[in-house]
Amino acid sequence: MKLTFENRTALVTGAGRGIGRAIAETLAAAGVTVICVSKSAESCGGVADAINASGGKAKAMAVDVSNGEEIAKASEVLLEEFPNIDILVNNAGITRDGLLFRMSPDDWEDVISTNLSSCFHWCKYLARPMTRARWGRIINIASVSGIMGNAGQANYSAAKAGMIGMTKSLAREFAARGVTVNAVAPGFIKTDMTSEFVNNEEVSAQILGQVPLKRFGESSDIANMTAYLSSQESNYITGQVFTVDGGMAM
Ligand code: NAP
Repeated sequence: MKLTFENRTALVTGAGRGIGRAIAETLAAAGVTVICVSKSAESCGGVADAINASGGKAKAMAVDVSNGEEIAKASEVLLEEFPNIDILVNNAGITRDGLLFRMSPDDWEDVISTNLSSCFHWCKYLARPMTRARWGRIINIASVSGIMGNAGQANYSAAKAGMIGMTKSLAREFAARGVTVNAVAPGFIKTDMTSEFVNNEEVSAQILGQVPLKRFGESSDIANMTAYLSSQESNYITGQVFTVDGGMAM
């Protein structure tokens, strides 16, 4: 099946590396103009340059998504140039793992502001033009940790469970305006975020013991699901959470 994207523009956060980069490249290859956002200008700029060099259309903008004011300013500037940002992928995320008694208030705040509050701010600024256009797609990249919980990740799983709750509420708010809101919950995907586990033989054997498909996921596994949820073809799907985890959370 060929996915349909009619002159669409997408904003992807955390597009500088890993899953976000794969999402940006997959959407761009399908003809979508992609705004690549990440913390460092070098990281998102490199991805936008690579997309433009391979015949796609991309722009980069460095935004610290843990800062709501930066998101407000960036949204204002971007909406001037791109009045129709049709697709928003909230993918930027960090971990600051630790058992509760060792987790500092900063570890809690940093993870909540980067992973969860960022979604609130981007949705607040970018969903309005989508509702006016009567078409839009919001995809929030959550995690199986937000569904199953994970020892040592109270901050991260709270943020990801929060994204799932927000996804369902916004799906109900925007349904009548043609804007769908869904979440993707990845399992263990090979990126910088998980390299510590993936590259440790003992830990990776332990993790793969819980994964029926017996392998780590690739960023493209998440990008393919996100591309489908961004396309015209997913127009009867909203408020859902799609786990892409090799069967771990079934
Ligand atoms: P990653 O390789 O560590 O990349 C994270 C991306 O997020 C980078 O581009 C980084 O920007 C950006 N970012 C981090 N903090 C930011 C901030 N304050 N402002 C703007 N951008 C920021 O992570 P990943 O593995 O691709 O993960 C992507 C998403 O999937 C995250 O939300 C993560 O929680 C989720 N997820 C991942 C896994 C997994 O197994 N990998 C599993 C479940 C869920 P820079 O490039 O500029 O540093």
